[in-house]
Amino acid sequence: MLQDKDRIFTNLYGFESFSLPEAKKRGDWVKTSALVKKGKDWVIDEMKKSGLRGRGGAGFPTGLKWSFMPDPEKSGRPHYLVINADESEPGTCKDRDIMRHDPHKLLEGALLAGFAMGAHAAYIYIRGEFFNESSSLNKAIKEAYDAGLLGKNAAKSGWDFDVYLHRGAGAYICGEETALLESLEGKKGQPRNKPPFPAMAGLYACPTTVNNVETIASVPTILKRGGEWFSSLGSDEKNTGTKLFCISGHVNQPCNVEEEMGIPLKDLIEKHAGGVRGGWDNLLAIIPGGSSTPLLPKDVCSTIKMDFDSLREAGSGLGTAGVIVMDKSTDIVYAIARLSYFYMHESCGQCTPCREGTGWLWRTMQRMVTGNATIDEIDMLYDLTKEIEGQTICAHGDASAWPIQGLIRHFRPEMEAKILAYRKQAKVA
Ligand code: SF4
Repeated sequence: MLQDKDRIFTNLYGFESFSLPEAKKRGDWVKTSALVKKGKDWVIDEMKKSGLRGRGGAGFPTGLKWSFMPDPEKSGRPHYLVINADESEPGTCKDRDIMRHDPHKLLEGALLAGFAMGAHAAYIYIRGEFFNESSSLNKAIKEAYDAGLLGKNAAKSGWDFDVYLHRGAGAYICGEETALLESLEGKKGQPRNKPPFPAMAGLYACPTTVNNVETIASVPTILKRGGEWFSSLGSDEKNTGTKLFCISGHVNQPCNVEEEMGIPLKDLIEKHAGGVRGGWDNLLAIIPGGSSTPLLPKDVCSTIKMDFDSLREAGSGLGTAGVIVMDKSTDIVYAIARLSYFYMHESCGQCTPCREGTGWLWRTMQRMVTGNATIDEIDMLYDLTKEIEGQTICAHGDASAWPIQGLIRHFRPEMEAKILAYRKQAKVA
């Protein structure tokens, strides 16, 4: 279990005020200037040493991502840091609590990250529904400007740095980094074709790095305690540090918790969420990383470690670490069909496999729920997910396909039973 001395998010539950004086007591905005003065190469090297992988879902190494930004002296264009605070993945609510209760960690991280990538401005793109969180952030931004921690010579670091908060309007797809950039530019939030990648042509066609809230808010502590401290935590050199997990569904105490990367899933649920409703033996399945990651049946959940590579090897993913627990009272086919509806509703409609395929998936899944289908259609449904996966502009197509693939992989007998029961009742041969 993670020890208190190794926690990054020490006010995750809001037991103390998020205001600047309290944040400073927790170590925020302390030695910020000294860190900047160590230089951009030192910051990037330290982030590489830490092994931090992006906490928004994709898990790309953060230091490496920053190093893709061109040299500011040669690029001749402004550089931007964009912070993705759109957090819309069902089952995920960790960035929300950082912004509510620890917003100064995010702002200090923005200055350090912005400096490392040659950016004098950061845009925080927050989902429209996060009204209270945007209020907290706005107050924190004002406090930081008033104290000279943002603006000209931010935190007496010699680096000018501004932070702008932009509220979105609630479209899930604006959490995709290039759709987010389109939306920030005032256009319809639709993902861009890549390349070019944002590091070459991002916001306003300028070099841009888009990072998740948790990623950026982890940066100050990593730099203050050292990349080696962060990499000493976790399951191995590719899965380092601490991670915020959001545990919801059929547990006794749903919660957000910071734990060591690689904690066994069973320990995570039993130690922090009060266990599965009715006990571990009442567990049916768990979606481990937000709604788009394939579910895992109980036998896998009993031994799996919560890190990027263990979950990938098990045919799922860490994603956003939004852990959705389902006990044996769940109609698993209905639960996944509900997700199909969500992904159909949130498709931006640009590419045919996603626009048409997500609707087709939803309509077929509706029939799977009642059993009004044929056994062959289970294979057809699987084939359809394979026609969508990897064939679209953004990962939304994959996100619509994976939950159904997980269902068929692990719960095909339940799907077949529904079909056979329907046919028996309807007296179909
Ligand atoms: Fe839009 Fe879906 Fe294509 Fe993504 S995959 S660009 S959401 S249509």
